[in-house]
Amino acid sequence: MKSIERFKIPPGSKVRLKDFDPSFKGGHKSHEAAAKEIDHYQQKLRALQDLLYGERRHSLLICLQAMDTGGKDGVINHVLGAMNPQGCRVAPFKEPSAEELAHDFLWRAHKAAPARGEVVIFNRSHYEDVLVVRVHNLVPKSVWSRRYDQINAFEQELVANSTQVLKFFLHISAGEQLKRFKQRLDDPAKHWKISESDYKERAYWDKYVEAYEDALSRCSTAHAPWFVIPANHKWFRNLAVARIVVEHLEALKMKYPAPTVDIEHIRREYHAAKKK
Ligand code: ATP
Ligand code: MG
Repeated sequence: MKSIERFKIPPGSKVRLKDFDPSFKGGHKSHEAAAKEIDHYQQKLRALQDLLYGERRHSLLICLQAMDTGGKDGVINHVLGAMNPQGCRVAPFKEPSAEELAHDFLWRAHKAAPARGEVVIFNRSHYEDVLVVRVHNLVPKSVWSRRYDQINAFEQELVANSTQVLKFFLHISAGEQLKRFKQRLDDPAKHWKISESDYKERAYWDKYVEAYEDALSRCSTAHAPWFVIPANHKWFRNLAVARIVVEHLEALKMKYPAPTVDIEHIRREYHAAKKK
């Protein structure tokens, strides 16, 4: 994979998902051929999260969106699996509760956003409020159409507070989704994952594509970019996300905080105690 830039949506561009190949796998021939690189980025993720946690100046928010079976769970496993659970959290965005519905749509997102030093993955996100909500007319167009600007302002506020915001759309084809539904049907250990709504939502595929294209076009900003990740190959999807996260964390030039104690003094005491 030459550069992560190819996955980033330039601010102000008009996204057409059919221009993105969900089966893209860079220069890699296979999962096996990419294994070393995958391992490399996992090690880096581990080290960078340790630094983020130690420094406590920045935080990282990863938003994951995808059609059903797109691989959100897989990415969460891959990225957080490389990290120390202390300092990481997943925030799922399900159908809003009565309390959440009684607030503005960003309320629950703001509450779940990371504190300094923390990594948080939104499993679905505040974007559901311009996706499922738009596709199913859960609020009038006059309401959801204002939300793009509101989302951009909200994310800008997070960024101004030292949060790195990275948003990933895991892009699978309709055929790949069907294949994955079938695999779930064939595997009793995956039956619990199947919900009625997943199949029903398939009928709205084109409407979701339209809603995603607008969200990606209107909300990929310089401060909080969207990435369209080719996700038909699970290993490539994981590698691409990990690499993008690594490169953005590296750019923060984080440093461990200076010690608050006299290290030399403690070292002398340690050696003196050892001699006794
Ligand atoms: P899994 O991959 O395990 O199925 P999931 O993210 O699909 O995870 P579910 O509990 O199956 O979780 O689905 C959550 C549902 O909540 C989704 O259908 C999603 O569209 C819906 N949802 C999320 N946010 C909103 C919202 N603001 N308004 C209405 N529905 C929402
Ligand atoms: Mg689901």
